[in-house]
Amino acid sequence: MERLTDRGFIRELLERHGFTFSKSLGQNFLINPSVCPRMAEAAVQGDNVGVLEIGPGIGVLTNELLKRASKVVAVELDKRLLPVLDETLSEYDNLKVINADVMKLDLHRLIEDEFGSMEVAVCANLPYYITSPIIMKLLEDRLPVSSITVMVQKEAAVRLCAEPGSRDSSAITAAVRYYCDPELLFHVSAGSFMPAPKVDSAVIRLGLREPSVHPRDEALLFRVIRGAFAQRRKTVLNSLSSSLSLDKGELSDILCKAGVDPGARAERLTLQNFSDISDAVYEWSK
Ligand code: SAM
Repeated sequence: MERLTDRGFIRELLERHGFTFSKSLGQNFLINPSVCPRMAEAAVQGDNVGVLEIGPGIGVLTNELLKRASKVVAVELDKRLLPVLDETLSEYDNLKVINADVMKLDLHRLIEDEFGSMEVAVCANLPYYITSPIIMKLLEDRLPVSSITVMVQKEAAVRLCAEPGSRDSSAITAAVRYYCDPELLFHVSAGSFMPAPKVDSAVIRLGLREPSVHPRDEALLFRVIRGAFAQRRKTVLNSLSSSLSLDKGELSDILCKAGVDPGARAERLTLQNFSDISDAVYEWSK
Protein backbone atom coordinates (compact mmCIF):
# COMPACT_ATOMS: atom_id res chain seq x y z
CA MET A 1 0.00 0.00 0.00
CA GLU A 2 1.41 3.38 -1.02
CA ARG A 3 -0.58 5.81 1.17
CA LEU A 4 1.09 5.00 4.46
CA THR A 5 2.79 8.40 4.74
CA ASP A 6 -0.40 10.38 4.09
CA ARG A 7 -1.55 12.04 7.34
CA GLY A 8 -5.23 12.07 6.37
CA PHE A 9 -5.17 8.41 5.40
CA ILE A 10 -3.34 7.41 8.61
CA ARG A 11 -5.86 9.31 10.76
CA GLU A 12 -8.79 7.63 9.01
CA LEU A 13 -7.13 4.18 9.21
CA LEU A 14 -6.30 4.48 12.91
CA GLU A 15 -9.70 5.90 13.80
CA ARG A 16 -11.43 3.06 11.99
CA HIS A 17 -9.37 0.58 14.06
CA GLY A 18 -9.98 2.52 17.30
CA PHE A 19 -6.21 2.98 17.69
CA THR A 20 -4.64 5.71 19.82
CA PHE A 21 -0.88 6.28 20.06
CA SER A 22 0.96 4.88 23.06
CA LYS A 23 3.76 7.16 24.21
CA SER A 24 5.17 4.49 26.47
CA LEU A 25 5.68 2.14 23.49
CA GLY A 26 7.56 4.86 21.59
CA GLN A 27 4.91 5.06 18.87
CA ASN A 28 6.03 7.81 16.49
CA PHE A 29 5.15 6.68 12.98
CA LEU A 30 7.13 7.83 9.94
CA ILE A 31 5.27 10.10 7.53
CA ASN A 32 8.18 11.49 5.49
CA PRO A 33 7.92 9.57 2.18
CA SER A 34 11.62 9.74 1.38
CA VAL A 35 12.88 8.07 4.57
CA CYS A 36 11.63 4.45 4.36
CA PRO A 37 12.86 3.77 0.80
CA ARG A 38 16.34 4.99 1.82
CA MET A 39 16.34 2.83 4.95
CA ALA A 40 15.15 -0.22 3.02
CA GLU A 41 17.81 0.28 0.35
CA ALA A 42 20.52 0.48 3.01
CA ALA A 43 19.20 -2.68 4.68
CA VAL A 44 18.55 -4.89 1.66
CA GLN A 45 21.68 -5.10 -0.47
CA GLY A 46 21.64 -8.02 -2.88
CA ASP A 47 19.36 -10.99 -3.53
CA ASN A 48 17.96 -13.55 -1.12
CA VAL A 49 17.99 -11.23 1.88
CA GLY A 50 15.61 -11.80 4.79
CA VAL A 51 14.79 -8.86 7.06
CA LEU A 52 13.92 -8.88 10.73
CA GLU A 53 11.97 -5.70 11.47
CA ILE A 54 11.32 -4.54 15.03
CA GLY A 55 8.13 -2.55 15.61
CA PRO A 56 6.40 -2.28 12.21
CA GLY A 57 3.69 0.10 13.49
CA ILE A 58 1.23 0.49 10.60
CA GLY A 59 3.77 -0.97 8.15
CA VAL A 60 5.25 2.06 6.40
CA LEU A 61 8.85 0.76 6.54
CA THR A 62 7.70 -2.86 6.23
CA ASN A 63 6.06 -1.96 2.91
CA GLU A 64 9.41 -0.78 1.48
CA LEU A 65 11.27 -3.76 2.92
CA LEU A 66 8.76 -6.21 1.43
CA LYS A 67 9.36 -4.78 -2.07
CA ARG A 68 13.07 -5.49 -1.80
CA ALA A 69 13.56 -8.51 0.48
CA SER A 70 12.82 -12.20 -0.03
CA LYS A 71 11.04 -12.30 3.32
CA VAL A 72 10.27 -9.94 6.19
CA VAL A 73 9.54 -11.03 9.74
CA ALA A 74 8.14 -8.11 11.74
CA VAL A 75 7.94 -8.27 15.54
CA GLU A 76 5.29 -5.95 16.99
CA LEU A 77 4.47 -5.75 20.70
CA ASP A 78 1.20 -3.83 20.40
CA LYS A 79 -1.47 -6.34 19.38
CA ARG A 80 -3.87 -3.52 18.43
CA LEU A 81 -1.66 -3.00 15.35
CA LEU A 82 -2.08 -6.54 14.02
CA PRO A 83 -5.43 -5.97 12.25
CA VAL A 84 -4.05 -2.69 10.90
CA LEU A 85 -1.04 -4.50 9.41
CA ASP A 86 -3.34 -7.19 7.98
CA GLU A 87 -5.07 -4.44 6.06
CA THR A 88 -2.12 -2.28 4.98
CA LEU A 89 0.16 -5.12 3.88
CA SER A 90 -2.44 -7.57 2.55
CA GLU A 91 -0.92 -7.58 -0.96
CA TYR A 92 2.31 -9.30 0.19
CA ASP A 93 2.85 -13.01 0.74
CA ASN A 94 6.47 -12.72 1.97
CA LEU A 95 5.56 -11.23 5.37
CA LYS A 96 5.18 -12.80 8.80
CA VAL A 97 4.09 -10.66 11.74
CA ILE A 98 4.90 -11.91 15.24
CA ASN A 99 3.09 -10.36 18.22
CA ALA A 100 5.83 -10.31 20.88
CA ASP A 101 8.24 -8.24 22.90
CA VAL A 102 11.49 -8.35 20.93
CA MET A 103 13.47 -8.23 24.19
CA LYS A 104 11.94 -11.53 25.28
CA LEU A 105 12.31 -13.45 22.02
CA ASP A 106 14.89 -16.11 21.26
CA LEU A 107 16.16 -14.40 18.12
CA HIS A 108 18.62 -17.18 17.22
CA ARG A 109 15.71 -19.58 17.05
CA LEU A 110 13.54 -17.12 15.12
CA ILE A 111 16.26 -16.50 12.52
CA GLU A 112 16.95 -20.19 12.10
CA ASP A 113 13.25 -21.08 11.79
CA GLU A 114 12.22 -18.21 9.51
CA PHE A 115 15.14 -17.39 7.24
CA GLY A 116 16.91 -20.70 6.47
CA SER A 117 19.86 -20.00 4.15
CA MET A 118 19.02 -16.32 3.52
CA GLU A 119 21.40 -13.52 4.44
CA VAL A 120 19.68 -11.72 7.32
CA ALA A 121 19.52 -7.98 7.98
CA VAL A 122 17.81 -6.11 10.82
CA CYS A 123 15.94 -2.91 10.01
CA ALA A 124 13.79 -0.77 12.31
CA ASN A 125 12.56 2.59 13.37
CA LEU A 126 13.31 1.70 16.98
CA PRO A 127 11.07 2.53 19.92
CA TYR A 128 13.28 5.11 21.65
CA TYR A 129 12.67 3.87 25.18
CA ILE A 130 14.72 0.72 24.52
CA THR A 131 17.15 1.74 21.76
CA SER A 132 20.36 0.80 23.60
CA PRO A 133 19.06 -2.44 25.17
CA ILE A 134 17.79 -3.65 21.77
CA ILE A 135 21.04 -2.84 20.00
CA MET A 136 23.09 -4.48 22.75
CA LYS A 137 20.85 -7.56 22.67
CA LEU A 138 21.26 -7.85 18.90
CA LEU A 139 25.04 -7.54 19.22
CA GLU A 140 25.68 -9.57 22.36
CA ASP A 141 23.47 -12.45 21.20
CA ARG A 142 25.93 -12.80 18.27
CA LEU A 143 23.09 -13.27 15.83
CA PRO A 144 23.92 -14.41 12.32
CA VAL A 145 22.99 -11.04 10.79
CA SER A 146 25.04 -9.02 8.31
CA SER A 147 23.81 -5.53 9.20
CA ILE A 148 21.56 -3.50 11.49
CA THR A 149 19.98 -0.41 9.90
CA VAL A 150 18.03 1.59 12.47
CA MET A 151 16.46 4.96 13.16
CA VAL A 152 17.48 6.27 16.58
CA GLN A 153 17.46 9.62 18.36
CA LYS A 154 20.13 11.96 16.99
CA GLU A 155 22.09 11.97 20.25
CA ALA A 156 22.08 8.17 20.36
CA ALA A 157 23.29 8.07 16.73
CA VAL A 158 26.22 10.34 17.61
CA ARG A 159 27.17 8.09 20.56
CA LEU A 160 26.76 4.88 18.60
CA CYS A 161 28.86 6.12 15.68
CA ALA A 162 31.47 8.12 17.68
CA GLU A 163 35.16 7.45 17.16
CA PRO A 164 36.51 5.62 20.22
CA GLY A 165 38.70 8.03 22.18
CA SER A 166 36.61 11.05 21.11
CA ARG A 167 34.48 13.27 23.37
CA ASP A 168 31.20 11.74 22.17
CA SER A 169 32.24 8.18 22.97
CA SER A 170 30.55 6.17 25.71
CA ALA A 171 30.30 2.56 26.85
CA ILE A 172 28.04 1.70 23.94
CA THR A 173 30.50 3.26 21.45
CA ALA A 174 33.17 0.83 22.54
CA ALA A 175 30.75 -2.12 22.51
CA VAL A 176 29.55 -1.23 18.99
CA ARG A 177 33.12 -0.94 17.69
CA TYR A 178 33.89 -4.36 19.10
CA TYR A 179 31.26 -6.01 16.91
CA CYS A 180 30.80 -3.73 13.90
CA ASP A 181 31.64 -0.76 11.72
CA PRO A 182 29.03 1.93 12.37
CA GLU A 183 27.98 4.56 9.83
CA LEU A 184 25.65 7.52 10.28
CA LEU A 185 23.63 7.54 7.04
CA PHE A 186 21.33 10.59 7.30
CA HIS A 187 19.46 12.88 9.66
CA VAL A 188 15.66 12.90 10.00
CA SER A 189 13.78 15.88 11.43
CA ALA A 190 11.17 15.56 14.20
CA GLY A 191 8.48 16.69 11.72
CA SER A 192 8.95 13.46 9.76
CA PHE A 193 6.94 11.58 12.41
CA MET A 194 3.36 11.43 13.57
CA PRO A 195 3.06 12.45 16.33
CA ALA A 196 6.27 14.52 16.19
CA PRO A 197 8.73 13.66 18.96
CA LYS A 198 10.64 16.40 20.81
CA VAL A 199 13.99 15.51 19.27
CA ASP A 200 15.47 14.88 15.83
CA SER A 201 16.58 11.44 14.71
CA ALA A 202 19.13 9.81 12.45
CA VAL A 203 19.49 6.54 10.57
CA ILE A 204 22.59 4.50 11.25
CA ARG A 205 23.89 1.29 9.72
CA LEU A 206 26.01 -1.14 11.70
CA GLY A 207 27.93 -3.56 9.48
CA LEU A 208 28.71 -6.66 11.51
CA ARG A 209 32.14 -8.31 11.39
CA GLU A 210 34.50 -10.36 13.54
CA PRO A 211 35.56 -8.58 16.78
CA SER A 212 38.36 -6.07 16.25
CA VAL A 213 40.25 -6.95 19.46
CA HIS A 214 40.80 -10.32 21.11
CA PRO A 215 40.51 -10.10 24.90
CA ARG A 216 41.19 -13.21 26.98
CA ASP A 217 37.82 -12.83 28.69
CA GLU A 218 35.08 -11.08 26.69
CA ALA A 219 32.70 -10.70 29.65
CA LEU A 220 35.50 -9.04 31.63
CA LEU A 221 36.17 -6.64 28.75
CA PHE A 222 32.54 -5.48 28.91
CA ARG A 223 32.69 -5.13 32.72
CA VAL A 224 35.78 -2.97 32.31
CA ILE A 225 34.12 -0.80 29.63
CA ARG A 226 30.92 -0.32 31.66
CA GLY A 227 32.90 0.27 34.85
CA ALA A 228 35.20 2.85 33.26
CA PHE A 229 32.24 4.85 31.92
CA ALA A 230 30.11 4.43 35.06
CA GLN A 231 31.48 7.71 36.43
CA ARG A 232 32.74 9.29 33.25
CA ARG A 233 33.95 12.53 34.86
CA LYS A 234 36.28 10.60 37.14
CA THR A 235 39.67 9.21 36.16
CA VAL A 236 39.73 5.65 34.93
CA LEU A 237 41.58 4.78 38.17
CA ASN A 238 38.79 6.09 40.39
CA SER A 239 35.94 4.84 38.26
CA LEU A 240 37.34 1.33 37.83
CA SER A 241 38.50 0.90 41.41
CA SER A 242 34.94 1.34 42.66
CA SER A 243 33.22 -0.64 39.89
CA LEU A 244 35.69 -3.56 39.97
CA SER A 245 36.23 -3.27 43.77
CA LEU A 246 40.00 -3.09 43.32
CA ASP A 247 42.49 -1.37 45.59
CA LYS A 248 43.79 1.83 43.94
CA GLY A 249 47.45 0.87 44.38
CA GLU A 250 46.93 -2.49 42.70
CA LEU A 251 44.76 -1.01 39.99
CA SER A 252 47.35 1.65 39.27
CA ASP A 253 49.93 -1.11 38.63
CA ILE A 254 47.43 -2.98 36.45
CA LEU A 255 46.75 0.14 34.37
CA CYS A 256 50.47 0.82 33.97
CA LYS A 257 51.00 -2.79 32.81
CA ALA A 258 48.26 -2.19 30.25
CA GLY A 259 50.04 0.99 29.11
CA VAL A 260 47.14 3.21 30.23
CA ASP A 261 47.57 6.45 32.19
CA PRO A 262 45.59 6.01 35.48
CA GLY A 263 44.67 9.71 35.28
CA ALA A 264 42.99 9.36 31.87
CA ARG A 265 39.21 9.54 31.46
CA ALA A 266 37.27 6.67 29.89
CA GLU A 267 36.21 8.72 26.86
CA ARG A 268 39.88 9.08 25.81
CA LEU A 269 40.51 5.32 25.73
CA THR A 270 40.40 3.15 22.62
CA LEU A 271 38.94 -0.33 22.39
CA GLN A 272 42.50 -1.71 22.35
CA ASN A 273 43.16 0.15 25.66
CA PHE A 274 40.06 -1.45 27.23
CA SER A 275 41.11 -4.86 25.95
CA ASP A 276 44.63 -4.39 27.37
CA ILE A 277 43.18 -3.32 30.74
CA SER A 278 40.88 -6.34 30.85
CA ASP A 279 43.80 -8.67 29.99
CA ALA A 280 45.92 -7.08 32.73
CA VAL A 281 43.06 -7.52 35.26
CA TYR A 282 42.67 -11.12 34.07
CA GLU A 283 46.40 -11.81 34.60
CA TRP A 284 46.39 -10.13 38.01
CA SER A 285 43.37 -12.12 39.25
CA LYS A 286 44.81 -15.51 38.21
N1 SAM B 1 8.01 1.16 11.99
C1 SAM B 1 6.95 2.11 12.26
C2 SAM B 1 7.26 3.43 11.61
O1 SAM B 1 8.43 3.64 11.24
O2 SAM B 1 6.36 4.25 11.47
C3 SAM B 1 6.74 2.30 13.78
C4 SAM B 1 7.94 2.75 14.56
S1 SAM B 1 7.58 3.23 16.21
C5 SAM B 1 8.94 4.34 16.49
C6 SAM B 1 8.07 1.84 17.22
C7 SAM B 1 7.22 0.59 17.10
O3 SAM B 1 7.77 -0.41 17.96
C8 SAM B 1 5.78 0.76 17.54
O4 SAM B 1 4.94 0.15 16.60
C9 SAM B 1 5.70 0.03 18.89
O5 SAM B 1 4.42 -0.49 19.18
C10 SAM B 1 6.73 -1.06 18.68
N2 SAM B 1 7.36 -1.59 19.92
C11 SAM B 1 7.59 -0.91 21.07
N3 SAM B 1 8.23 -1.70 21.96
C12 SAM B 1 8.39 -2.91 21.35
C13 SAM B 1 8.98 -4.14 21.77
N4 SAM B 1 9.52 -4.30 22.98
N5 SAM B 1 8.98 -5.20 20.90
C14 SAM B 1 8.44 -5.06 19.67
N6 SAM B 1 7.86 -3.91 19.22
C15 SAM B 1 7.85 -2.84 20.05
